[in-house]
Amino acid sequence: MPVRTAGFTLSGDLVPEEVAYLREATSRLLAGERRADVTRWVNAEGHRTTAGNPWREEVLWRTLLRPRLAGLDADGQPIDGAPIVITPEEQEQLKALSPGRTDPVENREYPLGGAAVCGKCDWELIPSWAAGKPIYRCPSESQADSLDLPTAGEDAARSGPCGSISMNAVMLEDAVAELALAELLRPGAQERLESLLADVKAEVGRLKKGIKQIESRVKRLDAMLRTSMPDEAREGLLSSQKATRKEGRDARTRLRFLEHIADASLPTGDVDELIAWWKKAPTASKRALILLEIAKVRVGPGRRGRNPDPHERIDVEWR
Ligand SMILES: [Zn+2]
Repeated sequence: MPVRTAGFTLSGDLVPEEVAYLREATSRLLAGERRADVTRWVNAEGHRTTAGNPWREEVLWRTLLRPRLAGLDADGQPIDGAPIVITPEEQEQLKALSPGRTDPVENREYPLGGAAVCGKCDWELIPSWAAGKPIYRCPSESQADSLDLPTAGEDAARSGPCGSISMNAVMLEDAVAELALAELLRPGAQERLESLLADVKAEVGRLKKGIKQIESRVKRLDAMLRTSMPDEAREGLLSSQKATRKEGRDARTRLRFLEHIADASLPTGDVDELIAWWKKAPTASKRALILLEIAKVRVGPGRRGRNPDPHERIDVEWR
């Protein structure tokens, strides 16, 4: 009996409920959750392999790395019009998490990844490890090139990272969490979050519509390309097909990010309940909540001293 690939029917169409959890698993992995934890989450949600078995870590990992999931053939070339579960870029990022390595950075969650920026140069701080401790730090210029990091601001794009700021991850995360929780306890904060959440949900809806339109544009272009035409016209169509595909991939990446936020279950209650929620919430939820509350957290240089107050070094930009 032919065995189908998770996410696809035997005839190659997407299976929406499988696509949803495979994407969520990818997000969690890329957000720094451990593979064992992600596998546990998938199974706890009741998802099974196409053979009907609980997922095992290596099987889930291998499945997510199948070229098919990113619409690629065995040689890594895009298959025309193939539906995709995750983007080829995401698959590359997953590969970069390299399975066998026991890099401490890979085995730790960095919930502020993407939101923490250097207070000196505005570059995004990267998850790292130094002297046996997890840190967030401003990348050196050569690293920034090889990592292909997104620049945090216009100035950063011009000048490159300074590489001079780093902060202990636990200290930074605890300080930001404290501020994020305090913000939640302010009068009106819950309502403000709910309205932010409503905006995010509205944008999710708009993006979904937009993606449908992009998909039908791709289909129309495919159909046109199957007819005969002068080379010049074909070249023009091919380049707009490429651009449309890229537009589609970008929209899907943004959609997945926003869907995380849209799914955030907001904690309610008093300080103790909120802190209890924070302690046991999965990284993706914490990230979603922090990102819903804050636009950025700037980390400034540390001051020497016996008990430096982490709050003196951070500056939160609220949404
Ligand atoms: Zn810097």
